[in-house]
Amino acid sequence: RPACPSAPPALAEGVAAGDRRALARAITLVESTRPDHRAQAAAMLAALPARQALRIGLSGTPGVGKSTFIETFGLMLTGLGLRLAVLAVDPSSARSGGSILGDKTRMERLAREPRAYIRPSPSRAELGGVARRTRETVRLAEAAGFDVILIETVGVGQSETLVAEMSDLFVLLLAPAGGDELQGVKRGIMEMADLILVNKADGELRPAALRTVADYAGALRLLRKRPQDPPGFPKAMPVSAIEGGGLEAVWAEMQALHGWRQARGLVDSRRAGQAREWFLAEVRAGLLARLERDPAAGMLARLGSQVEEGRADPVAAAAELLAALE
Ligand code: GDP
Repeated sequence: RPACPSAPPALAEGVAAGDRRALARAITLVESTRPDHRAQAAAMLAALPARQALRIGLSGTPGVGKSTFIETFGLMLTGLGLRLAVLAVDPSSARSGGSILGDKTRMERLAREPRAYIRPSPSRAELGGVARRTRETVRLAEAAGFDVILIETVGVGQSETLVAEMSDLFVLLLAPAGGDELQGVKRGIMEMADLILVNKADGELRPAALRTVADYAGALRLLRKRPQDPPGFPKAMPVSAIEGGGLEAVWAEMQALHGWRQARGLVDSRRAGQAREWFLAEVRAGLLARLERDPAAGMLARLGSQVEEGRADPVAAAAELLAALE
C-alpha cells in the first residue's frame, strides 16, 4: 500500500492510466476550495499529460429530453468503441425543481456502460466555482483518455455561456413548438449554437418538430456568418432521443464540423485562447481571494459596504483600493 495514495503525482498517474477511482478522487479534489486542497490540485493538474477529447456542450431547458438524449447518444458512441465522459454544469441558483443534472438514475443504461463515466454536479456551488471546477474536471477527463466529453447544462443564464466557451461544439436541444415560441430562445444563445436539435421528432409530435426545425433553420440563416463555420452551419436538425432517430446524422455532422475546423487550425487556436482565459480567471480569483484574506486590505470589505450604501463611488473606491496595493 503506497504511503500516500492521493499524493498529487500519484493521483495524476492514476488518472492518466485510466483508473476510474483515481479520476473520481481527483475530481473530488478539484471540487474542494480548501487552500491545501487547491495547492494539491494545482500540482496534480500540472502533472497530467496533454490529451484532447472532443468536447460537446449540451444545453436545454428541463423536460426537453437532455438525459434521454445523453443516454441514447452516449450508448451510440460507446457502441462505436468511443469512451465518453458526461459532466454537468449546474449552479445551484439555476436548479429548478430539484432535478440534478448528470444524475445517474436519469441515464441508467449509460451509467452501467464500462466505456462511459458520468459525474453529477456537486450539490452546492456558485457560478465562479462552477467555472473553475468544470475546466479542471474537463482537463482531468481529457487526461484520462476519454474520446468525447459531454458537458450538460440547463438552459438558464450564464451557465450556458460558460459551457459554450469551454466546448468545441455547442448543441442546443429544443422541444417541438409553435412558431411563436422561437422568440423564447434568446438570440445570444442561438448565436452560440453549432447545432440546434429539435427533440421528440417522433409519433404525433413529428410534424410539429419538423416545422420547428424549418423555423430555426430560417432563423439561423439570418444570423451573422461566423468565421469558424463551413457552409451550412450552424444547422437545425430533428432528432428523437427516445427512438434514436437522427442521432447518427447528428454524430456525422459533429464530426464533419469539428474536422473542418481542425483542418484549419481553428480548434487549436480556440483552445489556446481558452487556456489564456483560464489563466486570467485564475489570477483574478486568486487576487480577489488574497484581498479578502489580507487584513491590511480589510479595505475590500469596507469600501464594498461604502459603495453599497452609496457613500462611495464604485470607480473611485476601486482606484483607492488598487492604489493601496502599490
Ligand atoms: P431533461 O429534463 O431535459 O433531462 O429531459 P428528460 O430526458 O428527463 O425527458 C423529459 C420527458 O420527455 C420524459 O418524459 C421523456 O420520456 C420525454 N422525452 C425525451 N426524449 C423524447 C423523445 O425523443 N420523444 C418523446 N416523444 N419524448 C421524449
